[in-house]
Amino acid sequence: MINRRRIKDKVAELLRQFSVVQPPVDVERIARRLGIRVRETGFDGDVSGLFVRKGQDAVIGVNSMHSEQRKRFTIAHEIGHFVLHISKPIYVDELVLHFRNRTSAEGRDPDEIEANAFAAELLMPEDFVQQSMSDLDNWDDEAVSKLAKEYKVSVEAFVYRLTNLGYMLDL
Ligand SMILES: [Zn+2]
Repeated sequence: MINRRRIKDKVAELLRQFSVVQPPVDVERIARRLGIRVRETGFDGDVSGLFVRKGQDAVIGVNSMHSEQRKRFTIAHEIGHFVLHISKPIYVDELVLHFRNRTSAEGRDPDEIEANAFAAELLMPEDFVQQSMSDLDNWDDEAVSKLAKEYKVSVEAFVYRLTNLGYMLDL
């Protein structure tokens, strides 16, 4: 089992540290402020991103061919490895956004599950989402896609997050 409380606490700490009080969360800025270099690279195939730590140095590589939302999710995921997984020096991530295919190998690796949970919490903090949802009159697909834009995440990621937070959507 992964420790969701710890992930939530770590994210809350970062948001406080960098005075983030509303969406969209600027994950690239957070990475830089943590001393992580962020590089866009033209990866082959399905590589979304990678994370390398060497001594005091940390670098996130992100696939330059991917959409803005996907790059943001990848950066958030790699920050998760930086914050949560201190002892492992390198991660190469394929298909970080495997929302539908939960049975993939990656979906069973605890580090990857944690990094994905961290990314979801960082891009869509539970408190922010609760506030956004309480301000809504209708939870229709138009409202949800507007919120996804506001958070600068894909509609798929936002819907997945809402479902995980227990919102019963009828889209
Ligand atoms: Zn990963």
